[in-house]
Amino acid sequence: LAKRSGRNSFRFYSKDLTASAEERMRLESDLRRAIERGELELHYQPKVLLDSGAMIGSEALLRWRHPVMGMVPPVRFIPVAEDTGLIVELGRWVLREACQTAAELNADGRIPHKVAINLSVKQFQSAGLIKSIAEILEETGCRAEWVEIEITESLLLDQKDETLHMLSELRSMGFSIAIDDFGTGYSALNYLARFPIDTLKIDRSFINSVDKRNEELVKAILSIARCLGQSVVAEGVETTEQAAFLAANGCGTAQGFLYSKAVPKGDIMALWRRSPANGFDPAKIEFRG
Ligand code: C2E
Ligand code: MG
Ligand code: MG
Ligand code: MG
Repeated sequence: LAKRSGRNSFRFYSKDLTASAEERMRLESDLRRAIERGELELHYQPKVLLDSGAMIGSEALLRWRHPVMGMVPPVRFIPVAEDTGLIVELGRWVLREACQTAAELNADGRIPHKVAINLSVKQFQSAGLIKSIAEILEETGCRAEWVEIEITESLLLDQKDETLHMLSELRSMGFSIAIDDFGTGYSALNYLARFPIDTLKIDRSFINSVDKRNEELVKAILSIARCLGQSVVAEGVETTEQAAFLAANGCGTAQGFLYSKAVPKGDIMALWRRSPANGFDPAKIEFRG
């Protein structure tokens, strides 16, 4: 019996492995064609000021509408894109699309709307990143001041001079730099003093739990940011209690399902047109579910 179940479980195991390897290959070859087939879309999740609820920007989040599998979430295809190097091409598409949207959102010249764009470590390792970003600004008429670049702690892990130079150059072009998922990486904190970082984005795992210890950690992160003159965005805010706690402890900006999920370009344009400068308060009218 033991032998039989052992053999069975081995069979299931190897079958699962085959399936997932197959799925990866499938995703990879489909992903290669996704751009030209127009299957990719960028959605935008509003960022709001915690005290007033006013929208001040958004984060561009990639969506893939697969013809057979439907919406494939980024957690499934971004790692495949990173392993195969496809992320460089995808990332360039994302940059161009997001900068185009930022240019349109800011066309009326009232208060700036900053679009945050996620960049993978692989993009920083590829040749010509800065040059291609400069070209995209030129092409789209987007100003660097309208864009925040989100990086992860893993980019800063080995504290390379090369990385420092690239971030400094992006900063001097006018981009702001945010650390995404702050507090979940394995980096030493001393990178915060060495690298030019404007914003810490507190990972949603700290926000979503009502745990007392997490509250203390959030306060500690807010205090670090205050000392270093950085702004803070809390991600994954889902309840009014979480928003109240963050506001009471001096967190400036929030993003989360409490306000809105990521929406298509047309919707973010419409929301922005009706946002506070035009007498619209998203916190009171449209975003809250
Ligand atoms: P991220 O950059 O940390 O983005 C935030 C993720 O949290 C998004 O998931 C967003 O939809 C989700 N989220 C926002 N508010 C809430 C909330 O209140 N509750 C919950 N449960 N989730 C919330 P999404 O869009 O599935 O993206 C997942 C990750 O995929 C992103 O995490 C980012 O690391 C990566 N990603 C997405 N788009 C891009 C891209 O264009 N380039 C790169 N390199 N990575 C991307
Ligand atoms: Mg992000
Ligand atoms: Mg994040
Ligand atoms: Mg996160």
